[in-house]
Amino acid sequence: MEFSSRLLEAAVYEMSQLPGIGKRTALRLVLHLLRQPTSQTQHLVEALSTLRQDIKFCTKCHSISDVEICHICSNPSRVQDVICVVEDIRDVMAIESTSQYRGLYHVLGGKISPMDGIGPQDLHITSLIEKAKSGQINELIFALSATMEGDTTNFYIYKQLNGVQIKTSTIARGIGVNDELEYADEVTLGRSIINRIPFENAIKG
Ligand SMILES: [Zn+2]
Repeated sequence: MEFSSRLLEAAVYEMSQLPGIGKRTALRLVLHLLRQPTSQTQHLVEALSTLRQDIKFCTKCHSISDVEICHICSNPSRVQDVICVVEDIRDVMAIESTSQYRGLYHVLGGKISPMDGIGPQDLHITSLIEKAKSGQINELIFALSATMEGDTTNFYIYKQLNGVQIKTSTIARGIGVNDELEYADEVTLGRSIINRIPFENAIKG
């Protein structure tokens, strides 16, 4: 792509670093911003910049939060001894939108994926095992997406729990294989949380 402006080229380059944004789309977005009032670009830049500066990760569940302990972890009316294990904040948002779950969450920050060079040590697994061993947790619900990476991660955690007195369950796989959790509709996802099955049964099947 030949650019007549270095400034334009630099902006398009940065935009094209985002996932799913090719050079052409990047150019379209940048030109769109140029046609809008300057204030719109300023608001975008400010929002992103403030986000990067001020965002925190909840010290308990590792979810993205504006405060040290997120509003779910600090809510005394949530069921304190049930933890739903998810990949990232999108899963928390999806499950919250079903209004069918009143327990807490633990955000792993990804899935074990040797292909992408992501091992257990790259995820928040140690802190999860510590919680499970604390004796204060009754049940862990695995709610990772039904992919090979999701299964590998569930199984790894399950193995780490060997000898720990804790119930483990997994959300029913009504959601098709390879469907990401975030795309399941609210009713289906809510139902699969209510109808969760013991993890032992899931791995036998
Ligand atoms: Zn939290």
